[in-house]
Amino acid sequence: MRIGIIGLGLIGGSLGRDLCLNPENQVWGISRNPATCDQAIAIKAVHYAAPDISQISKLELAQLDQTDLIFVCTPIAAILPTIAEIKPYLAPHTVITDVGSVKVAIVGEAEQLWDRFIGSHPMAGTAFNGIQAAELELFKGRPCVVTPTDHSNRHALDLVQAVWQSLGAILYQASPPAHDRAVALISHLPVFVSASLIQVCSQEPDRAVAELAKQLASSGFRDTSRVGGGNPQLGRYMAEYNRTALLSGLKQYQLCLEKAIAQIEAEDWQSIESSLTQRQTERPDFLN
Ligand code: NAP
Repeated sequence: MRIGIIGLGLIGGSLGRDLCLNPENQVWGISRNPATCDQAIAIKAVHYAAPDISQISKLELAQLDQTDLIFVCTPIAAILPTIAEIKPYLAPHTVITDVGSVKVAIVGEAEQLWDRFIGSHPMAGTAFNGIQAAELELFKGRPCVVTPTDHSNRHALDLVQAVWQSLGAILYQASPPAHDRAVALISHLPVFVSASLIQVCSQEPDRAVAELAKQLASSGFRDTSRVGGGNPQLGRYMAEYNRTALLSGLKQYQLCLEKAIAQIEAEDWQSIESSLTQRQTERPDFLN
């Protein structure tokens, strides 16, 4: 298969590394920074790469008009402009998907730009970003949601799903609004909860206590602070492009915190234990 990847960072680079392992795939890439393109070729995340589509179109081996599938893996704000930019260079059969962490802000307009567009979102990430963070098998065993609509092309949907499945992802389908509400709860809300936790710790006014806390921080703090200490631009775009659902989750969270504060102030230890017992039984439902 001939595949293009635009945005060679954590997600684009990881996709490329897996896709290049299959000798039947020819993978070209585009990333803003020429050094990123060189690094992507060096780590075998792509066979060819250049900083923009006009340069890729001149690479005979890349055969742009014969590309079957393009993954747009840029930051969220660049996804729609990227599709608009590459459109004139593509043959009508080419399927485009994206990996953006929000879907409502992207899918409707992307479908208008390109009728063989299918939204995707692999639920996989690390605390790192950029091509140097690209990992093999990042998507293996991880959920990946595709967000077809009534206008989606059936062949395009089948192709996108088949490629994610070939990388070991566990596929789900959801409408773009359902996707955005669900990921607000389990992905975007945790970023802000976790970032607030780091903030509270780093703002401890007693320097001796702050230093001791740093020394004692272990696996629990590593787990709870990971997503808050990740890519700041990604967190900003989650808030900007999924504002309503994120605000709703944050306000629910605020209510839960207020309830916990009231219980502790009232020294209502029994209610606290009951509440934590309930959470202990609910947690496994969210762990794949
Ligand atoms: P990332 O590591 O920062 O990678 C994005 C790369 O895109 C950058 O390294 C940059 O590379 C390149 N880039 C930026 N603007 C571009 C443009 N206009 N044209 C071409 N390339 C451009 O970020 P990421 O974590 O891979 O995220 C990429 C996408 O995946 C986002 O839409 C995000 O919502 C989604 N996503 C992220 C995660 C996660 O947990 N990280 C999970 C699922 C989905 P250079 O400037 O170095 O060329």
